[in-house]
Amino acid sequence: MTAASNYETHETDVLIIGAGGAGLRAAIEALAKGARVAVVCKSLLGKAHTVMAEGGLAAAMANVDKADDWRTHFRDTMRGGKFLNNWRMAQLHAQEAPDRVRELEQWGALFDRTADGQILQRAFGGHTFKRLCHVGDRTGLEMIRTLQDRGVQMGFDVYMECTITKLLKDGDRIAGAFGYWRDSGNFITFKAKSIVIATGGIGKSWKITSNSWECTGDGMALAYEAGAELLDMEFVQFHPTGMVWPPGVQGLLVTEAVRGEGGLLRNKNGERFMEKYDPKRMELSTRDVVARSIYTEVREGRGTPHGGAFLDISHKPAEYVKRKLPSMYHQFKELADVDITKGPMEVGPTCHYMMGGIRVEAETGQSSVPGLFAAGEAAAGLHGANRLGGNSLSDLVVFGRRAGLAAAEHAKKAPAPVLDNAQTGQAERELLAPFARSSGESPYQIHHDLQETMQNLVGIFRSDEDLRRALTELEKLKARAARMRVEGSRLFNPGWHLSRDLQCMLTVSEACALAALARKESRGAHSRLDYPKSEDAWGTKNQVIVKKGDTMTLFEAPRPAMPQELQQILAEDK
Ligand SMILES: Cc1cc2nc3c(=O)[nH]c(=O)nc-3n(C[C@H](O)[C@H](O)[C@H](O)COP(=O)(O)OP(=O)(O)OC[C@H]3O[C@@H](n4cnc5c(N)ncnc54)[C@H](O)[C@@H]3O)c2cc1C
Repeated sequence: MTAASNYETHETDVLIIGAGGAGLRAAIEALAKGARVAVVCKSLLGKAHTVMAEGGLAAAMANVDKADDWRTHFRDTMRGGKFLNNWRMAQLHAQEAPDRVRELEQWGALFDRTADGQILQRAFGGHTFKRLCHVGDRTGLEMIRTLQDRGVQMGFDVYMECTITKLLKDGDRIAGAFGYWRDSGNFITFKAKSIVIATGGIGKSWKITSNSWECTGDGMALAYEAGAELLDMEFVQFHPTGMVWPPGVQGLLVTEAVRGEGGLLRNKNGERFMEKYDPKRMELSTRDVVARSIYTEVREGRGTPHGGAFLDISHKPAEYVKRKLPSMYHQFKELADVDITKGPMEVGPTCHYMMGGIRVEAETGQSSVPGLFAAGEAAAGLHGANRLGGNSLSDLVVFGRRAGLAAAEHAKKAPAPVLDNAQTGQAERELLAPFARSSGESPYQIHHDLQETMQNLVGIFRSDEDLRRALTELEKLKARAARMRVEGSRLFNPGWHLSRDLQCMLTVSEACALAALARKESRGAHSRLDYPKSEDAWGTKNQVIVKKGDTMTLFEAPRPAMPQELQQILAEDK
């Protein structure tokens, strides 16, 4: 520790913001390249949102379905993403995921097994073959445990329960970051040649969400403020199956593994309604399609008593269900008093995953700001307009590794950065402003209203009118947030923490609404009631958001041409 300015200051080569799967994998790689690495996270190490991941990670290992290969995985990912994906990322992901899984196994991850001792793989929506490597329905826990053990053994420095609120720059390039300790409220700065943003998603801007409290879009907002570009922010995934009842757990995820293991969806009349919407793939259709189907059934009066659909796995032997879906069994037993081995669950769509995020280069995770990298859910590109289940956990290890590697290489060449007292001073003033006001609203009320706005106006189905209203509401919310007040001291003060997170949520929410308004078609997770079809012209471009002065501006970016060999793979019909 050195004393720069008045703050506790640490110097490192690579600063990783986030200790989920992407951050930990990036840290391991940067350490392996000889860099000094610091990892900072809002929660305790081991508690990042990735720990909640259930169904598995997708990799074309061909352990169960011998015909699987990276080409099929590539094609499935591109088709699932409605061809808006960064094709190079989809290619690298499909090619490298099997090696990343084998590596996890070598580092101690205990996957479920086939009878002949290979890693077992299960079916998931949109995947042609059984492809998801899993540990029952607790895959994320095993992944975090494995990566964490490895990273701690290799020796990264960890700063947990510490929130970064600003990226610091030296001219155009990254110089470090400013934040605060959540327990003491004291400030901290990091001086770093490279930073990897691995801060996960944005689900907490919606009322019904499967996401943990950490998912407030911080990394995307911090990168945007530092000059980085945000890509395809309109594509927010609503997972078809969240709990709908009891109210206290509304939105909590019901893993797709239930459908992967043979779960059936029915409406209140007992009809398997997916026959109408996707008769070929039925329950294993992609998430965008299943979510819209459930939503439509409910809207047209065929929903369950609590406004969802029935999901039933009780036709499978009880022992099998308890072994393959232990968390789901306990979740429903304890929270809803439902025994899923005997009867159906009630499920409905829940805000789940952000396909959009920081625009990065495929090979390196480099953003448009020198020294700033991103990986995992905070970065965009791989999933296009819709993510296939299981493709996030594999994304974390494939692109976490690549970002860590590139960040370490960059740090080797970059000159020592200089921290600018004016920037840290401004970060401090911004953070303390809500304490200084003698009157003003509580951040909780503003957050509540933000969630209502995003749920009602930027949800599964969108329209010009709703999105314009959303943008107007967001302006009002921003004005209210500029006057909000926080009471109490800086000692572990959740209201104060929320006041800062809220600023990030407002930024990413505005980006979502702006991009959704501009995309005048329906594609993947973005469904416009007023433009219900996909348009070829829109399939040729992505949307990019960047800060110009104080204004959020959007421009279209033409998609680079795909090489012939990849086009051929897409044309094959398996
Ligand atoms: C219930 C559930 C089940 C899922 N199951 C699957 C599955 O089976 N398969 C699959 O592929 N995907 C699944 N997903 C999606 C997947 O889990 C996530 O997309 C993925 O875990 C995100 O990982 P990440 O490393 O990008 O970020 P996270 O795991 O979200 O980690 C973010 C990290 O950043 C830190 N952070 C955030 N902001 C700050 C800040 N300002 N300062 C400091 N630190 C910060 C957090 O503390 C945390 O450590 C599931 C999601 C949910 C909600």
